Amino acid sequence: MAKDPVCGMQVDEKKAPSTTHGGQKYYFCCDGCKSAFEKDPAKFLGGQGSHAGHGHGGH
Ligand SMILES: [Zn+2]
Repeated sequence: MAKDPVCGMQVDEKKAPSTTHGGQKYYFCCDGCKSAFEKDPAKFLGGQGSHAGHGHGGH
């Protein structure tokens, strides 16, 4: 199992949509999460720990 960095769900890497970023492969529960990640990977990877996506700036 792999973790969807967007929503935090556990996903099956055999079936899940995936993308490669910075040499690392990421898996998603759905295409919606995948496109959200591809649009702004830093948003989901930057805040290692808690409150990812609640940073300043953005919207
Ligand atoms: Zn997801």
